[in-house]
Amino acid sequence: PSASIETRNPATGAVLKRYDAHDSATVDRLLERAASEAARWRERSFAGRAQLMGAAAATLRARKAELALLATAEMGKPVAEAEAEVEKCALACDWFAENAERLLRAIEIPSSATRSYAAFRPLGVLLAIMPWNFPYWQAFRAAAPAMMAGNVVVLKHAANVTGCALAIEEIFRSSGFPEGAFTTLLVGSKAMEPIVLHDRVAAVTLTGSEAAGSSVGALAGKAIKKTVMELGGSDYFIVLADADLERAAEIGVKARFQNSGQSCIAAKRFIIEDAVYDRYVALFVEKTRELAVGDPTQRETRIGPMARHDLRDDLAAQVRDTVAAGAALLAGGEPLPGPGAFFAPTVVGNVRPGMRMAEEETFGPAAAMFRVRNADEAVALANESRYGLGGNLWTRDIALAERLAARLESGNVFVNGMTASDPRLPFGGVKKSGIGRELSEFGIREFVNVQTVWIG
Ligand code: NDP
Repeated sequence: PSASIETRNPATGAVLKRYDAHDSATVDRLLERAASEAARWRERSFAGRAQLMGAAAATLRARKAELALLATAEMGKPVAEAEAEVEKCALACDWFAENAERLLRAIEIPSSATRSYAAFRPLGVLLAIMPWNFPYWQAFRAAAPAMMAGNVVVLKHAANVTGCALAIEEIFRSSGFPEGAFTTLLVGSKAMEPIVLHDRVAAVTLTGSEAAGSSVGALAGKAIKKTVMELGGSDYFIVLADADLERAAEIGVKARFQNSGQSCIAAKRFIIEDAVYDRYVALFVEKTRELAVGDPTQRETRIGPMARHDLRDDLAAQVRDTVAAGAALLAGGEPLPGPGAFFAPTVVGNVRPGMRMAEEETFGPAAAMFRVRNADEAVALANESRYGLGGNLWTRDIALAERLAARLESGNVFVNGMTASDPRLPFGGVKKSGIGRELSEFGIREFVNVQTVWIG
């Protein structure tokens, strides 16, 4: 008998569904089918691919309510956020449909040739290993540019969002894409080694934990395959003394607690200049207490359960150990009673280097507040992290902000506004946050053969 995958509703603990995993013969057949479609898909014109990608966007919009409820049931996201996520996927499909041809136009380069240029050719089958936190966005954000570039995609999604994974495959199919252009594999992470190594897989993109990235990256390296890795972060949120504190608190709370705190680019380390520390933290705690925690299917809910009970328990331990090491618990701090994986929105003050909430990524609703003397100390502390995904900086002095940005070791710096991904802008990190870039012209050129054509 083949292995099975079980999904559970994290708000109630109830089993949602059991799925039979694909056995290795089925995986082989699906990879062969993907590879033969790749040979045809690359021959389609940009206009032909764009028409289908536009149809996928329309399908997403038409099925938004139903898709949102499925994500909410499987991973607990508040339904209003799930609907916004589906909308954003449609936007990304449209954007790459409209812009891929322009972004991949050959670049003329003068040389000793009569004519020479760099052309961007597809690689073939892209394996996308994706996480549960934005079950639709992570998959579409990887697939839309890769497919518009002429690749086909095989998705291995996180086990707890298997229903979403199958829904995504169905969205492409019912929008008119040929069989094999987008395939969902139902396999556990332990069965992934032969798939990463498989000859039919040309390249791998992974979003998830550092451990998963390191393990998949090692395999891909062994097989000489291109990878892009997006592995989360511990984003800084710097508030300097001259900042608009009210706005910085409002956006700070949103940036920390979006998706119940489970976002790679959530603000995680709040680094506050001493002169405004007490006022800022008081505002932040006040706004945190106003967050409506509860049933994620209710439209007014801002914080749902965490996606799994084990993740909730990990966060509880990080908070407990940080407070035990001398930090101050200012709000929340405990799992909420009941069968769901809820954790009270939490604020911990006076966090210092060496404490767990300083050293580790906190993937849930808990904010860490650090006190610094000045902007230089803020930059030094922001850089004192193994991660380098993104960050946020609040000051009215824009010239200063731009000087500080140059010294900050992160893949993005957002000044006076919330960190967010945007199809038009590159997205990705440095240090243990990953390798490569997603979205924009940088993302679409990750999974292509940059082919030099030289004509004598
Ligand atoms: P994982 O990294 O374990 O899961 C992400 C994806 O990778 C899933 O599809 C998972 O499959 C797969 N995977 C895991 N290990 C392997 C492997 N060895 N080979 C192939 N595929 C693998 O994340 P978790 O769900 O365990 O979350 C743990 C932590 O990861 C979080 O607390 C957070 O720190 C980080 N994370 C970061 C995200 C981001 O956006 N950058 C998103 C989610 C998590 P399966 O589900 O079957 O195990």
